[in-house]
Amino acid sequence: MRVYNFSAGPSMLPLEVLEQAQRDFVDYQGCGMSVTEMSHRSKQYDEIHSECLSLFRELMQIPDNYRILLVQGGASQQFDAIPLNMLTGTGRADYIVTGNFAKKAYQAAKALNVGDIHLAATSEDKTYTYIPAQADLRDDTDYVYITQNNTIFGTRWTKLPRLKSGVLVSDVSSNILGEQIDVSRYGVLYAGAQKNVAPAGVTIVIVREDLITDGVAGCPTMLRWKTQAEADSLYNTPPCFSIYMAMLNLRYLKKLGGIREMQKINEYKSALLYDFIDNSGFYTNAVNPQDRSLMNVPFVTPSKELDAEFVKQATQHGLLSIKGHKLVGGMRASIYNAMPVEGVRALIAFMQKFQSENK
Ligand SMILES: *Cc1c(COP(=O)(O)O)cnc(C)c1O
Repeated sequence: MRVYNFSAGPSMLPLEVLEQAQRDFVDYQGCGMSVTEMSHRSKQYDEIHSECLSLFRELMQIPDNYRILLVQGGASQQFDAIPLNMLTGTGRADYIVTGNFAKKAYQAAKALNVGDIHLAATSEDKTYTYIPAQADLRDDTDYVYITQNNTIFGTRWTKLPRLKSGVLVSDVSSNILGEQIDVSRYGVLYAGAQKNVAPAGVTIVIVREDLITDGVAGCPTMLRWKTQAEADSLYNTPPCFSIYMAMLNLRYLKKLGGIREMQKINEYKSALLYDFIDNSGFYTNAVNPQDRSLMNVPFVTPSKELDAEFVKQATQHGLLSIKGHKLVGGMRASIYNAMPVEGVRALIAFMQKFQSENK
């Protein structure tokens, strides 16, 4: 039996995608072997790799002067790769810290000691429940860094910061493919796969061509974007199965009508949940209303004891992994692309029942 899985990541994939992978698993399209067994230099794999890249380009409308890199190491590895590849001009970067992952990226950049890393704004004062309206951005940076959707705290950028210098770099790990993004407004966008794209393994880095350089002195070969850019992301063995699953998921998204359609569904799903929470008189979501994420919805009941009871009973009702992150407590419903509207309705029905039994 399938459950409604509200995990923040790895998270749900569309059933149709899983079933296709299951049909293909042992014998991929009559070639007598699994994608997990085949050479990454084979014709079959090459087709998967190219189709994955071209579907990303088509669905995200990625302009021709951007390269799409498929790398490993997770989103976290890009916390290091970004400064190592980008601090090649003035050697300065501004970071806007809107959550735990942004803070980690900021700290990683500082720790490398390859440039002047500046904290331009943070919303830590109110446990990251809002996106700062102002930032102390400098006029001589190589880049400005943001996290577009804050997975743990449930906020997102809806209006991008106005830059004084440099290019915008954004971590879109938890909202890629979930809402439309105008790629041309960024220098670099990147995302780990396991929230909205595929099983963990591949990390997608979308980078404007002129930003692909040798990086700072001593930049390791495997962190240098140029290494994979010059080899079409086949410099070494890529995470083939994750890329194959991404391809299937992108095909599915295309059939559904693309990101525009997906965003409408995500707006509908999240509005159902936020409206219910706001009108319940029992549950609360602490996030500044205009900064609310479409993907991650944290909420609490009136007490910690009830929160714990909620998580326990939700699990018994087939609503899984709804416990909040340890930094926030309470609950968090991650409602990525693959969470059907019925899953959100089932959650709301359970929330109503729980409220009536516990208020
Ligand atoms: C999950 C997540 C990360 C970390 O991703 P890994 O692939 O585990 O390194 C980074 N940033 C954001 C916004 C995330 O949601």
